[in-house]
Amino acid sequence: MNSLYRFLIVVVYLLTFQQYYAQVEYEKTQFVAPLHIPLILSGNFAELRSNHFHTGLDIKTKGSEGYRIYAVDSGFVSRINISHWGYGKAIYVTHPNGYTSVYAHLSRFPDKIEKYLRKKQFENETETITVYPDSLDLLISKEEIIAYSGNSGSSGGPHLHFEIRETETEKAVNPLLFGFDIKDDIRPTVSNIKIYPLENGFINGKDIAKVYPTAGMSGEYRLKDNPVIEVDGEIGLGVHTIDKLNGAGNKCGIYTIELFVDGSKVFRQTMEKIDFFTNRYINAHKDYNEYHLKKRSFHKSYVSENNKLELYDGLINKGKLNFKDDTMHQLKYVIKDTYGNTSNVNFQLKSNTKMAKTISQVLSLGDTINMAGDVAIEKAGFKAYLPENSVYNDLRAKYKEEEMSKTASGLHQFGNSKIPVQHYFIMKIKTQNIAKNMEKKAVIVSVSSDKRKVYAKGGEYKNGWVETKVRAFGNYAVKIDSVAPAVTAVNISEGKNLSSAKNIQFQDIR
Ligand SMILES: [Zn+2]
Repeated sequence: MNSLYRFLIVVVYLLTFQQYYAQVEYEKTQFVAPLHIPLILSGNFAELRSNHFHTGLDIKTKGSEGYRIYAVDSGFVSRINISHWGYGKAIYVTHPNGYTSVYAHLSRFPDKIEKYLRKKQFENETETITVYPDSLDLLISKEEIIAYSGNSGSSGGPHLHFEIRETETEKAVNPLLFGFDIKDDIRPTVSNIKIYPLENGFINGKDIAKVYPTAGMSGEYRLKDNPVIEVDGEIGLGVHTIDKLNGAGNKCGIYTIELFVDGSKVFRQTMEKIDFFTNRYINAHKDYNEYHLKKRSFHKSYVSENNKLELYDGLINKGKLNFKDDTMHQLKYVIKDTYGNTSNVNFQLKSNTKMAKTISQVLSLGDTINMAGDVAIEKAGFKAYLPENSVYNDLRAKYKEEEMSKTASGLHQFGNSKIPVQHYFIMKIKTQNIAKNMEKKAVIVSVSSDKRKVYAKGGEYKNGWVETKVRAFGNYAVKIDSVAPAVTAVNISEGKNLSSAKNIQFQDIR
């Protein structure tokens, strides 16, 4: 046995052991339920959302507000948040066992906490507030009522958003690992497999990604109609999968995805912990277009260059597959929910180095935006400066300027909204025919693809140009903002449905 092989065995053993050990440790904490009604979920940990993985459980409250919320363990209130969006009214309780529990979208708090909060609001002369009480200010005993459920903040209906975080790292941990009385004996559903051409990769002669629907039952899937799939070069795989839990039809997220090629594991992801600082890299993990255009949750089973998520282990070549041996290969996905309910998908890929190939021209137009290094795009009336690693892979972004009425500039089309972006970047647009007294009111707006809606993105006028920071490709122009500035709040770390919250304010330009 050579030493590399021995080393690999030790690594695999350690990873397996670590996983086992971690689960046992979670089980040792004895949290009680945060609600005294049956815990039925409308959302679970790490399910795919816009620009973030969901960091907790969404527990149903029978469509109404005012249910008592109980502290899952003793501790102290370490934070209270009052906001009109994001988590809304939220309370954090830090426990002696190293975890902090978080309860969000609440309607109100019991007297002891309301009184404390009122005092702080009065001192700060503000209603929306974040307070961090000292550890002796608001002591909490196990199962004490700490709040009443609600629908505050960016909540789409009454429910409790419940999280468990590691106090020290503030990483969110999958609450289903802690043994709450939540039932799930339903296997994950697998709807489609997707094959992506990577470096010199081809699928049936084309360099275009292809979706294959699955067929099967009782957790054993194959590809519908058993298609012959010929591949060559570097290929990536993705899988469209969700999980349902007992008692509700809601589509929730899975726990692990493993990919095997000819019996060897090449990829594994585990939804155990999520770091808020890297959560937006979900855009490198999920198939962005499938999610945003078709509402389908595809997990990619390879790790692209600009992906800082810590969900992966057991990777061989980052999960990217190379086909160049002209033989048939057996592929297998093993997908589990947090309770170990399992679904498998078995299918074949045929390596064929000799198949006829056509190269599509789709990607050959536009400005190159490479991940490495800063990128400057400078046109006659438009400039964009993207910091390093703003995108998740090297790409081309088309640029075009056209006339647009009721604006103070041309309409600048820079890439399109299907391209995900990690970092804010500077955008400058040259103004046209702008009255001196209106210069201060000039803002950059993003314009919907049908050109009927605009969304204010802020901006500052300087020497004939307006400058702001944005975090999306698409259509942009300058408008004179005669109403109060739109919400430009930027919160990257928490809260659900942030993207919709950001886009609440708009005006009709017709
Ligand atoms: Zn939630």
